[in-house]
Amino acid sequence: MKTAEIKRRFLAHFAANGHTVVPSAPLPAIDDPNLLFINAGMVQFVPFFLGQRTPPYDRAASVQKCIRTPDIDEVGKTSRHGTFFQMNGNFSFGDYFKAGAIPLAWELSTKPVSEGGFGLDADRIWATVYLDDDEAIEIWHKTVGLPLDRIVRRGKRDNYWSMGIPGPAGPCSELYYDRGPAYGPEGGPDVDEDRFLEFWNLVFMQYEIADVTSKEDFRVVRELPSKNIDTGMGLERIASILQGVDNLYEIDEVRPILALAAELTGKEYGAKSGHVAGESHPDDVRLRVIADHVRTALMLIGDGVTPSNEGRGYVLRRIMRRAIRAMRLLGWQEPALPLLLPVARDCMAPSYPELATDFDRISQYAYAEEDAFLSTLRAGTTILDTAISTAKQQGSPTLSGDQAFQLHDTYGFPIDLTLEIAAEQGLTVDADGFRRLMADQRARAKADAKARKTGHADLSSYRSALDAGGPVEFTGYHEVTRESR
Ligand code: ATP
Ligand code: MG
Ligand code: MG
Ligand code: MG
Repeated sequence: MKTAEIKRRFLAHFAANGHTVVPSAPLPAIDDPNLLFINAGMVQFVPFFLGQRTPPYDRAASVQKCIRTPDIDEVGKTSRHGTFFQMNGNFSFGDYFKAGAIPLAWELSTKPVSEGGFGLDADRIWATVYLDDDEAIEIWHKTVGLPLDRIVRRGKRDNYWSMGIPGPAGPCSELYYDRGPAYGPEGGPDVDEDRFLEFWNLVFMQYEIADVTSKEDFRVVRELPSKNIDTGMGLERIASILQGVDNLYEIDEVRPILALAAELTGKEYGAKSGHVAGESHPDDVRLRVIADHVRTALMLIGDGVTPSNEGRGYVLRRIMRRAIRAMRLLGWQEPALPLLLPVARDCMAPSYPELATDFDRISQYAYAEEDAFLSTLRAGTTILDTAISTAKQQGSPTLSGDQAFQLHDTYGFPIDLTLEIAAEQGLTVDADGFRRLMADQRARAKADAKARKTGHADLSSYRSALDAGGPVEFTGYHEVTRESR
């Protein structure tokens, strides 16, 4: 079943059950200062859940475009993490609760394909519930008929949702699909989350919490007067199950990008890997990273993000650079995006036609970014390679802060790239030394600016900035994130 068809069936199922279909919000989370990108379907409905606004419907369904940069290091190494993905979701605002949400999810998952469902084998589905959520267990077992030995109780870390702040919270229940012994050991989601693939999370917003010190430490104040449902089903994950492929990089919306990258670099994808993602050959992991990141770049630029040195633009820049570097590591030295991006567009345009109409603009940004990065790489790589081999010859496990700074300062070589390349060679970088030099440089720039303003060099401010310099925290590319569930 094609991904676009899965999406259509999801929305049709919930529309037939009284839900209003709501379009995806754009990827940049412009209304939320704590979040760079939308990372779950519920984000656009937060004001409804918090009671700040009255929803114009009491049931909604959507397919939300999501970005999760915290998952970036998992991409390609697990079967199930993309930096971009789509979250199918159904929502109840004070309308149905657990007894509605669980059977609705079960029905769509197991209804035969010929009747509009996904036709999953009911015997392979497992559910997790929060420790003391006997109500959910009762519904899974008595109403739905799931045997007790496939219902797993889990603690707060896995099965309790909150926004990490005082407000609504509640237990959740997740659906897992057992992909069989080829993918890992027996024993359920507690043993292996790759064989047992999480595909749907049902959140039961039923309490108000306060005194929150962490995701696992808070006080329940009261039951909410109106209880809400927020669910998220990973579209790519269910697609990987229904298309019988090993991971979400092999589904119809992603695989063609991967296939072209493999063809260009002369790699035979999958020849050296089995079904278990964690044991994949590094070349296969790189091909998946390329496919994922090229698609993510397309979706981000499509939603108005452009490469830059901060915030959202920097996340995009970093993702594009990782894709380009992975192509180089596989042996492709030429610009790759003019070949790969149109394929990504063709994969996604059936669901997002604006990507085709807007492609001239999107591709201009993408190709210019790649050209600039390739020049940077050409300039910096030789220097870095020399530094690395010198360090190795001297038996030193560390590149000096000075070398990292020079690469940054003279060649525009980003520190995260230096760190990444050094790590690939088994070396570390003196990040403290690098930070000190960066702080010095910033202080100099400030003093210069002041001198320009006042007409003479104000050395005192330079001195004090230097003295106060201390360690300036290098936060790199890490996004401001808030786990949304
Ligand atoms: P996991 O434990 O596999 O990282 P999660 O528990 O972080 O997933 P949720 O926050 O519960 O995921 O999100 C709801 C659903 O969205 C998940 O059940 C999954 O189907 C999908 N999903 C989450 N993260 C990703 C991702 N990085 N790529 C693709 N799908 C995802
Ligand atoms: Mg996760
Ligand atoms: Mg999970
Ligand atoms: Mg989850």
